[in-house]
Amino acid sequence: MPISIENALRDAAHLLAEHQSPSPRIDASVLLCHVLDKPSSYLYTWSDKVLTEQECDAFNALVARRQLGEPVAYIIGYRDFWSLRLNVEPSTLIPRPDTERLVELALERLSPDASAVLDLGTGTGAIALSIASERKDVQVMGVDLRSEAVALAERNQLENGITNAHFKQSSWFDNVPAQTFSMIVSNPPYIDPEDPHLSQGDVRFEPKSALIADDHGLADIRHICQQSPSFLAQDGWLLIEHGYDQGEPVRTIFSDAGFVDVETLHDYAGLDRVTLGRFAN
Ligand code: GLN
Repeated sequence: MPISIENALRDAAHLLAEHQSPSPRIDASVLLCHVLDKPSSYLYTWSDKVLTEQECDAFNALVARRQLGEPVAYIIGYRDFWSLRLNVEPSTLIPRPDTERLVELALERLSPDASAVLDLGTGTGAIALSIASERKDVQVMGVDLRSEAVALAERNQLENGITNAHFKQSSWFDNVPAQTFSMIVSNPPYIDPEDPHLSQGDVRFEPKSALIADDHGLADIRHICQQSPSFLAQDGWLLIEHGYDQGEPVRTIFSDAGFVDVETLHDYAGLDRVTLGRFAN
């Protein structure tokens, strides 16, 4: 039966709401925009337009995947982050708005004479590419344990026309050349392996290696804090994203590793999300 854009969206949103999507209407709109290859304004301007059978079938197939819990970003293959459109694959974490806060804080602190930035566990390249896009005078290196992530970040760099970043396979600092950086940034895995949220929502589909860390989620943060001083220039900053309840232990880890001006800042929901510190040698 022929169905209009408006009705297709309404039906899909109902189905997705029944299957616990936290954002059924938005999910339905994003999936339909993808099928039609149009911006969201099109859906509202042409809400009475009848979908072709082919469009309808394609839309229903995507909605069915979302009903099974698959994240929208994996279904359509990309996520918008900062000013960039980033390809995403199940081998990497899906970039989140909270991480844009880290980018914002990093840019605020990156001095005018900064020359190099390191992003550890870059995944899609989200943080590295956002910083590189705003500071063309700075060279950004992004590293990731997974070679699939390195390839994906390189593709994202190319497709976003960024030339001042490069990516490398490395477990944290292992393959980082002996040089100093003006700033080190990271959104490492920080979820406690026992956290019940791991069996709910989008995270079920994301790689565990990008999400969980030992020692109540703090093991990788500790490793990064302890190793960073050897790779930071005088007065260089370290900024790390972490869980909403990890501000206090993370500040202690920063201070124990020799950082000063240690501070935890909030995400857009007002929760502790990023701790930063300056390495004063
Ligand atoms: N912020 C993500 C979440 O809680 C986790 C990201 C991470 O572990 N780096 O879903």
